[in-house]
Amino acid sequence: MSLDPFDWIDEEARRRADAGLVRTLRPRPAAPVLLDLASNDYLGLTRHPDITAAAAGAAREWGAGATGSRLVTGSTALHAELENELAEFCGFEAALVLSSGYAANLAAVTALTGRGSLIVSDAGNHASIVDGCRLSHASTAVVPHADPDAVRKALRSHEGRALAVTDSVFSVDGDAAPLPRLAEVCRTEGAALLVDDAHGLGVLGEGGRGALAAAGLAGGGGIVTTLTLSKSLGSQGGAVLGPARVIEHLVNTARTFIFDTGLAPAAVGAALASLRLLRREPERAGRARAVAAALYERLTAAGLTAVRPDAAVVSVRAPSADAAVRWAADCRTAGIAVGCFRPPSVPDGVSRLRLTARADLTEEQIATAVSVVRRTAPVS
Ligand code: PMP
Repeated sequence: MSLDPFDWIDEEARRRADAGLVRTLRPRPAAPVLLDLASNDYLGLTRHPDITAAAAGAAREWGAGATGSRLVTGSTALHAELENELAEFCGFEAALVLSSGYAANLAAVTALTGRGSLIVSDAGNHASIVDGCRLSHASTAVVPHADPDAVRKALRSHEGRALAVTDSVFSVDGDAAPLPRLAEVCRTEGAALLVDDAHGLGVLGEGGRGALAAAGLAGGGGIVTTLTLSKSLGSQGGAVLGPARVIEHLVNTARTFIFDTGLAPAAVGAALASLRLLRREPERAGRARAVAAALYERLTAAGLTAVRPDAAVVSVRAPSADAAVRWAADCRTAGIAVGCFRPPSVPDGVSRLRLTARADLTEEQIATAVSVVRRTAPVS
C-alpha cells in the first residue's frame, strides 16, 4: 500500500487528462493583444482612465487593504457611499457590499433560509448559489430551468419559510429568467425571491439599472438581488440589495460578510466611479445589447447555432467538448479570445463558445470576430 497521501490526486488527474478536461492557468498580457470577447468587462470599463484613477486614488487615501472585517476596521466612508449609490441606482432600499459576488450569494442564500426552510433553485443557477444552498442547512428543490409552474409546485409542497432563487441572466447561455412570472408566484405563495443579477447590472434596464428595474420589480418587498462589481462595473467585489430590514439582518448574521475582510478600497473606488460613469453615459447599456444582437444575427446567418441573447452573452453551440476546445484555440491563433465552456461547467453534450458583446466593440471588430468564428467553426 502506498503511503503517499496524494496518490488519489494523480489518479484523478489521469482520468481528467484521458477525458480531455484538464484546465490550466494562462496569464494574460497586461495590455490586450487579442480582441477580447472572453472577459466579462461588458462595458469596457476596467481600463477606462477614470476608473483606474479612482482605484489608485482610493488606495492612496484609504490604504491598499481594508485592514479588517467590515464590522471591525474594514468599513470606510467609501463603502457607505457605494452602498447608498448602488441601492439608489438599482431602485432598492439598502445595499451591502461584500468581497465578491460569490460571497454575496452565499450570504443572501444562507442568511435568508436555514434549517427547516425550503430553497427552490433553478437548475441553471450559478455555482455560488448552489454552494449557498449546500451551506444553508435548508432543503433544496432544484427545478427545471426557467419554469415558474415548477417553482409554484415546489413552494406548495412546503409549509414555512421559503426562498426561490434564480440567475437573472444565465451565465453560460445568456438567456433571461422569467422574472415577472417568478415574482408573481413568490408573491402569491408567500416566498421570498432572490435574483442574482451578475449579468444584468449595467446591461439590462434603463441605463443599465439591472434586470429587476427592467421588469419593474426593483424594490419589491419580498425581493432581494445580488450583484457582482466585477463584470459591467469593471472592478471586483459583490453586493446584496433589498429591503433595509433584510440588509440589517445580513449584517448581523451572514457569515461571509461577518468573517471576511472588507472589500479593498481600490475596488470600492473603481466600482463607485463606474456607477457614476454609467449615470453620465447611460447609452453604454443599450450598446452592449445591440452588439450582442449583431453578433447573434450574423453568426446564425452564417449557419452557426446560437442562443438568442437576452443581455450581453452570446452562446454558440459546439458539437463536442473537444471541438469547443480546438475552436477556441483556433480563434485565439486568429487573434480573438473567446470563452470555452465544457463539462463540468456545463452538462455533457452542450459544450459551447461564449462570446461577450462588449459595449466598446467597434463595427470593424464585430465584423472581424464574426468572420474568425465562422472561419474556425468545427464541422459537426
Ligand atoms: N453569479 C453569477 C451568475 C456569476 O456569473 C458570477 C461570476 N462568474 C458570480 C455570481 C460570482 O461573482 P464574483 O466573480 O464577483 O465572485
